[in-house]
Amino acid sequence: MKRQKPTFKPYDQGQLMVLPPTLEELIAADHPVRVVNQIIDKINLVPLLKKYKGGGCSSYHPRMMLKVLIYGYLSNIYSSRKLEAATRENIYFMWLSGMEQPDHNTLNRFRSERLKGIIKQIFSEVVLLMASSGHVDLQQVYTDGTKIESSANRYTFVWGKAIKTSRERISKQLEELWQYAEQVAKQELADQTPTQFAAIDPEEVRKTIELIDRALEDKPVAKKIRQKVKYAKKHWPGQLKSCQEKESILEGRNSYSKTDKDATFMRMKEDHMGNGQLKPAYNVQISTSDQIIAHYSIHQNPTDTLTLKSHLDTFQQELGAKPKELVADAGYGSEENYDYLASNQIEAYVKDNYFDKTQHKNELAKGNFHPDNLHYNNDLNCYYCPMGQHMKFIGNKVETTKSGYQRRLSRYQACNCNGCPIRGACHKSENDRIIEVSHHLIELRKRARELLNSEKGVAHRKKRPVDVEPVFGMIKQNRGFRRFLLKGIEKVTIEFGLVALAHNMMKLCTLIDLKGFLAAFLHLLLYTLSCITINARLQKRFLPAKLIPILS
Ligand code: SF4
Repeated sequence: MKRQKPTFKPYDQGQLMVLPPTLEELIAADHPVRVVNQIIDKINLVPLLKKYKGGGCSSYHPRMMLKVLIYGYLSNIYSSRKLEAATRENIYFMWLSGMEQPDHNTLNRFRSERLKGIIKQIFSEVVLLMASSGHVDLQQVYTDGTKIESSANRYTFVWGKAIKTSRERISKQLEELWQYAEQVAKQELADQTPTQFAAIDPEEVRKTIELIDRALEDKPVAKKIRQKVKYAKKHWPGQLKSCQEKESILEGRNSYSKTDKDATFMRMKEDHMGNGQLKPAYNVQISTSDQIIAHYSIHQNPTDTLTLKSHLDTFQQELGAKPKELVADAGYGSEENYDYLASNQIEAYVKDNYFDKTQHKNELAKGNFHPDNLHYNNDLNCYYCPMGQHMKFIGNKVETTKSGYQRRLSRYQACNCNGCPIRGACHKSENDRIIEVSHHLIELRKRARELLNSEKGVAHRKKRPVDVEPVFGMIKQNRGFRRFLLKGIEKVTIEFGLVALAHNMMKLCTLIDLKGFLAAFLHLLLYTLSCITINARLQKRFLPAKLIPILS
């Protein structure tokens, strides 16, 4: 059989166009870049414009720069060099930038300097715009947190405990030296008041060592002691000064990184080395509604429990009011948080640590030695232990948490645990068992459990894992944003703001697409039904008898 000659479509790279298309014409009407463009065109950028002093060389328009950055984060392009390349090569960026080509330094300066202190306002402006169009509900939010690695070096840790130990060691050795010097040179040190060894200060230490050195100068002391005094004179004041500086950076944290002093070492879930190593990171808290981020805050504390208050305070500052209902997991179920939510009239759909156990009888049975499972007699103010023994009230105790919140604990003690057959399973104390209970927490927890078990609470519990948690998946897995590029909490806030803006705009595109799809589907359905009705009227015999009355 004769082989046919292949034919190809015309290919001419030098083909001229009479009316070349504009970039606008090349971009699809429903492309996400149009959503970014429209939203940023709508928002008020006065605070950002105020950041420009005026005079000198003209600047790129901040609206254009912002659009380019947000669209970059939406397209998984985070590096300023890649963004610079995109404004030359990618028609969506070329359209957004109006064919301007800012270089990577300009883009980076805009991101890390111009957006400082402004990003939250821009983010809130966009959220309020989405709320006014009904895309996000600010009254009902789902809150959760994730840890995102800092761009700091992983092995540059400074530990608060090591600083404390070092100060204590110097203090102890200085006291020993002083006592030794007092024995050897009693006369020389007779009029000197000893330093406050506990509240150790570099200047005080320097003076004390000089005193010891002068007092021991002409005394026959061991070579080891002289060497120690010499070492202390040379190193201790400097070491203590460095300790003071490090403590001022720590600000109550347990650790920080030398290359990003705002980052704290935290245990990460995604540990690719699988060795439970701590990494410098930030704790990102978000509140979502239908997978749209309504609010975010960055924290240096790894514990979610301690972040809720400040997260909700900034929620109010930035969006004008706190939410009416908050849904969160057991990580937030502390007395302080329940108390805060109750005093701010926020309905707390927040689990406590034992909530899941209360849902399963078998699990509950395993922990029947826990104070929560012991019977309380309100009239007599006493508990009954698992053996039915009366546990009498022995007093109150006030406990201050890490955040400064004061809890009032009531203490109850069993009368005689000696010879009890289940003592080993009940408690490990050598004396009679003592339990400490916060009646205020019990009340707050009871209210939260009632809410969680209500019809609305069950719906919230079902929705929480598909509302807030997938957002972290989308950001970390789909967008590949697992590590910040910038250093310092201010710049990290900017970066996450851009990530959140990009996420919200992408979500908005999906919602618009879904609406369009539903409208088209409804249109098609109505059209099909009307055709069937006409057909049915014409040819009733082809339709099932039951369907005819419905369609006509
Ligand atoms: S050990 Fe003491 S508190 Fe525990 S069940 Fe026995 S008697 Fe009661």
